[in-house]
Amino acid sequence: MSDLNEVGERDNWRCWLCDNAVDPDASVNSDRGPSVDSYSVAKSKKNVVTVERLAHRDCNTMKGKKAPVVPWNPDLLVVDPSLIVATVDRLARKGGREVIARCPSEEDAQDASTWLLDRLSRFAPDLQLSTQITSGGGQYMLFLAAD
Ligand SMILES: [Zn+2]
Repeated sequence: MSDLNEVGERDNWRCWLCDNAVDPDASVNSDRGPSVDSYSVAKSKKNVVTVERLAHRDCNTMKGKKAPVVPWNPDLLVVDPSLIVATVDRLARKGGREVIARCPSEEDAQDASTWLLDRLSRFAPDLQLSTQITSGGGQYMLFLAAD
């Protein structure tokens, strides 16, 4: 188990799940206080590593009853968005690409792409991820691909 301050410094005191700031001086017993979240990440079928990330205590999945959730930015216009954590996990194991959301316009798809890549640069900094936008059936598909 790493030192909380070490993990906090490395993650710039930002919660890896909700992407909001974590107050380093908040009590570790308060809901919004800092905690270390241990999470298994599949690098490949045979290589599953445990990473330690900074999370708010109440965002910390180790307390939890449920799988971790990274919420989509509610300002984005996306239809049928996929679960970000599950999609990233599959891509890390298998590579390839998946449709992660559909958007009504190309501009919406570009906004979603920009947000997603920025968000994933903090959520999954070790993965090489890119996006592709293709049009079809009157809408725009946003793909997420692992290299
Ligand atoms: Zn949080």
